[in-house]
Amino acid sequence: MSYVEEVYAGLEAKHPNESEFLEAAKRVLDSLEPIVSAHEEKYRSTALLERLVEPERIITFRVPWVDDQGKPQVNLGYRVQFNSAIGPYKGGLRFHPSVNQSILKFLGFEQIFKNSLTGLPIGGGKGGSDFDPKGKSDAEVMRFCQSFMTELCKYIGKDTDVPAGDIGVGGREIGYLYGQYKRITGLYEGVLTGKGLTFGGSLARTEATGYGLVYITNEVVKGAGRDLKGKTIVVSGSGNVAQYAIQKAEQLGAKCVTCSDSNGYVYDPDGIKLDVVFDIKQGHRGRIREYVEKVPTAQYFEGQKPWSVPCDIALPCATQNEINGEDARTLIKNGCWCVCEGANMPSDADAIDEYEKAREEKGFLFMPAKAANAGGVAVSALEMSQNSERLSWSFDEVDHKLEDIMKDIYSKVSTAAKTYGHEGDFVVGANIAGFQKVAEAMSAQGLV
Ligand code: NDP
Repeated sequence: MSYVEEVYAGLEAKHPNESEFLEAAKRVLDSLEPIVSAHEEKYRSTALLERLVEPERIITFRVPWVDDQGKPQVNLGYRVQFNSAIGPYKGGLRFHPSVNQSILKFLGFEQIFKNSLTGLPIGGGKGGSDFDPKGKSDAEVMRFCQSFMTELCKYIGKDTDVPAGDIGVGGREIGYLYGQYKRITGLYEGVLTGKGLTFGGSLARTEATGYGLVYITNEVVKGAGRDLKGKTIVVSGSGNVAQYAIQKAEQLGAKCVTCSDSNGYVYDPDGIKLDVVFDIKQGHRGRIREYVEKVPTAQYFEGQKPWSVPCDIALPCATQNEINGEDARTLIKNGCWCVCEGANMPSDADAIDEYEKAREEKGFLFMPAKAANAGGVAVSALEMSQNSERLSWSFDEVDHKLEDIMKDIYSKVSTAAKTYGHEGDFVVGANIAGFQKVAEAMSAQGLV
């Protein structure tokens, strides 16, 4: 049994009920095999992998709050502080009924490598609650956030753990959480990111994930000797990531012909008109089907995903598991030669197998979410820097730093893949490149 297999077997025996976490750990550990076997003695002698797969600590707490009917409610709150070898824990808070310890461990584990890839000093963490903000009044959400922070504030701080938003935690929730942190601790410090611009938020944070996705896509395409200009792109989603991916792709001369929401997708052969999408989504939180009322030459497909539309490049920017094996085969059959992931985990395991086959057969390009959507957390880290300096950088300053970070991620990922004998395999490259820095820091800091 190899060292990687031994560590995974130990993990399975210790946490048999954590299926999401086990799956993520297995995928990452398997892809680390080339670097681990090259340094096996050193890693074994310091139990490096055994330490890497266990969180430094997990905090679990109850969150009591009172609903609008005056009835007490109790939710569960968590913070998984996974790895602080390269910086304070950093990762989002998710409020969703599906939240449990296994899912947060899976997300926190992935976050370690994503954060490391940004080159910025941020460790990995994740947290949240099984609270569902959907259908709750603003007052209920505020009372919940205040109760959640009353406990969480004991464990976080600008130099220890800096949470951000995630599913169910947007600007409103970050505002309430920040207000309560400040009230209890008396500290006006950058303890959360994704804050409003009037209280320490960063310019270009809104655009960061979508822009970053296109910056790295541009590098991937150039690395294969091609040009983004004139290429046809299929985008899914029409939320934050999708909107700004479309904007940047158009600025770089590509044409995005689709976008979608959970009801269906729009196909505009002349290129998606972003002002119309902004008007629908940011203006009145409408449905994407309204697009065809304003652009009659476009078509709307109810209940369908956009993966059958012929394209050069696909940028999934909606949700997890939105591309399955069959969707991937359809994309590739219709001429798609590159997928870069804006959403988290949009391609399921079968889809990734299809990309892998196509990579071996004809050089198909696939950049996984861990690297491709790291622009969001990178600008969150830049928000931390601005808060520490008590300065606000200009939009262009942040945007240029973001572009440099994404170029650097591409370079690290492709170099790591090549160095360890997997040239062009960006899944292996992203895991190894993210792992390298964390492993070096963990080794240097001794058995902690
Ligand atoms: P938004 O909520 O702004 O947008 C999500 C979009 O995806 C909406 O258009 C939504 O449609 C659509 N969508 C949601 N569920 C489904 C579904 N089951 N089928 C089809 N479409 C669906 O989220 P973001 O744009 O911020 O995030 C998108 C993805 O990117 C997520 O996976 C997120 O985790 C990831 N991500 C986001 C970052 C960020 O900075 N925002 C950073 C890193 C990753 P509808 O309106 O109908 O729900």
